[in-house]
Amino acid sequence: MDYVYGPGRNHLFVPGPVNIPEPVIRAMNRNNEDYRSPAVPALTKTLLEDVKKIFKTTSGTPFLIPTTGTGAWESALTNTLSPGDRTISFLIGQFSLLWIDQQQRLNFNVDVIESEWGQGANLDILASKLAADSAHTIKAICIVHNETATGVTNDLSKVRKLLDEYRHPALFLVDGVSSICALDFRMDEWGIDVALTGSQKALSLPTGMGIVCASPKALEASKTARSVRVFFDWKDYLKFYKMGTFWPYTPSIQLLYGLRAALDLIFEEGLENVIARHSRLGHATRLAVEAWGLKNCTQKEEWYSNTVTAVVVPPYIDSTEIVKRGWKRYNLSLGLGLNKVAGKVFRIGHLGNLNELQLLGCLAGVEMLLKDVGYPVKLGSGVAAACAYLQNSIPLIPSRI
Ligand code: PLP
Repeated sequence: MDYVYGPGRNHLFVPGPVNIPEPVIRAMNRNNEDYRSPAVPALTKTLLEDVKKIFKTTSGTPFLIPTTGTGAWESALTNTLSPGDRTISFLIGQFSLLWIDQQQRLNFNVDVIESEWGQGANLDILASKLAADSAHTIKAICIVHNETATGVTNDLSKVRKLLDEYRHPALFLVDGVSSICALDFRMDEWGIDVALTGSQKALSLPTGMGIVCASPKALEASKTARSVRVFFDWKDYLKFYKMGTFWPYTPSIQLLYGLRAALDLIFEEGLENVIARHSRLGHATRLAVEAWGLKNCTQKEEWYSNTVTAVVVPPYIDSTEIVKRGWKRYNLSLGLGLNKVAGKVFRIGHLGNLNELQLLGCLAGVEMLLKDVGYPVKLGSGVAAACAYLQNSIPLIPSRI
């Protein structure tokens, strides 16, 4: 029984946690198992191999950790850095702010590069800091690939280019929580040292698994990093990897089977097709926002996110009211504006196992909501703009050709 019942399906359009596909729900509907039997290590082995494909790495070492994105951050930082180490971190929205707060509380010396919310990471300032750092005091560059609070995607290839240009050895640590498995992400090609995500985002699983992938350079750094870590220590995982049993502590059996099913679905669709689908969903959403006469919080096209769109409402409207009403009246869950943009934006999450017709349902709901709160929207305008684009761009479903 739902805690608060609403007829039909809930239209879940927050940017995580996202819808879980039926085959994944069914795969997880199972009893516990002895994780020390031969079956679970055999399953884990396939997961560790296959999960590398969504990071686009062959040389990375993945860790499947019972945690959330926040724990995955902590795993990345504490395994590679020592207290007092200088990190460079970009403050562009609520999630980058929280990561910076974690870095400060872990006693790193955080050099913050701040941008207006709605803008991407300021790479000109990064360039000047790298140029001035001939002593290599900067130990890590920490960047959120896709800032979920504002719908801003940073260009990671440019960060790598700068590190190479200045021959700087800083570790490159990337939060891919709302990007990996939805946006173009290339761990090896972009020389990323630690990349991480959470199960409840584009993988479309329940919350509870943080997936962290470490480059050989990051593994090497973990041998001398002096941050205190216990639960997150990669060393414990590596010991069990060597033994072939894989688990230093009890994994969620159900999540492992869920991850197997989620990866199978992604590979059946094709990772590149998954990324292309997200591009269509993002584009269609932006066309709708434009047709409604509203502004995207993201200030430039180069930063547009294909997993989340933050929509700016006029000053006479409280965006929180739109989100509240969406749930109460239309069984539609939209993302709230967070912190600096609270009340000013609402967010449409378009990531994970989602198709275009589902998105159109959400866009129709948003139109009625805008009218409800007194915004003079022409009903159907955003849906029509999205349909006109989608009708010309949705390909046949790969497995049905
Ligand atoms: N990083 C990003 C980009 C996020 O969007 C989130 C959550 O939405 C987090 C980190 C934190 O993840 P979690 O809530 O799973 O700890």
